[in-house]
Amino acid sequence: MKTVLITGSTSGIGLGIAREFAKTKKYQIIFNGLETNGPDIAASIGKEFGIDVMYSPANMLKPEELRNMVSEGLAKFGKIDVLINNAGIQHVSPIEDFPDDKWLAIIGINLNSAFYLCKAVWPGMKANKFGRIINIASAHGLVASEFKSAYVASKHGIVGLTKTLGLEGAPFNITCNAICPGYVKTPLVEKQIADQAKAHNLSEEDVISKVMLMKQAVKEFVSVETLGQMALLLADERSNTITGTALPIDGGWNAQ
Ligand code: NAD
Repeated sequence: MKTVLITGSTSGIGLGIAREFAKTKKYQIIFNGLETNGPDIAASIGKEFGIDVMYSPANMLKPEELRNMVSEGLAKFGKIDVLINNAGIQHVSPIEDFPDDKWLAIIGINLNSAFYLCKAVWPGMKANKFGRIINIASAHGLVASEFKSAYVASKHGIVGLTKTLGLEGAPFNITCNAICPGYVKTPLVEKQIADQAKAHNLSEEDVISKVMLMKQAVKEFVSVETLGQMALLLADERSNTITGTALPIDGGWNAQ
């Protein structure tokens, strides 16, 4: 059995990825997220697939809680083979009105937490000569959109961290890759659809087709299952030569 720690896995993409890992029955899962029913979500997936699970409410803005989550995971499962840095938030605003606290929260949750967690799991992965780190970046890790300054900066930052750790991990069979999704219909995006509909006086259908999916060649939301399958591939023992990459799964957005 391998152990995977997935941040922000009690909602959206993280939860979808956790389900794909659970289905293989080859992974014990450390769940994390701020959802109050987090413990129930973790327990029900554990029961459904007959795998061991753990849940931690560690806050991505509190480095000490992140280090404790890793220590608790190591105490329970003995090792952490795969780390998936997925927790993230968004805020959309022109730069001159962008609240300072939102900037700090986005950089803290989307970028700094990945640094603390990579650092915390690294010694164990190095000692085991096996580690797979997967960062859920975004198409916005490769290109920008207006009004998303903090988010785009955080996602470009995590792509930089990914490249660096890909190099540093190579002697120890630790790989580090970023997945860069286009739009995925999760609570994070549902909030944006509602906000944009209000701001532009458009219907939600028009926001989806005229604003969101405008940049994707494939006019469909990316599914969490597709992202989970990519994460499983990157986590595989045979994927040791895939490292330092930023892989777009964005319906062709970045091909343009
Ligand atoms: P979501 O809102 O459904 O889930 C986010 C998760 O992160 C939740 O479990 C939440 O509790 C957790 N989280 C937020 N702040 C936290 C904190 N301070 N401490 C601990 N956990 C915290 O969002 P999602 O769409 O599933 O997003 C997941 C990741 O995918 C994010 O990094 C996001 O930037 C990225 N992403 C999303 C999309 C999309 O279209 N939905 C596209 C590209 C990238």
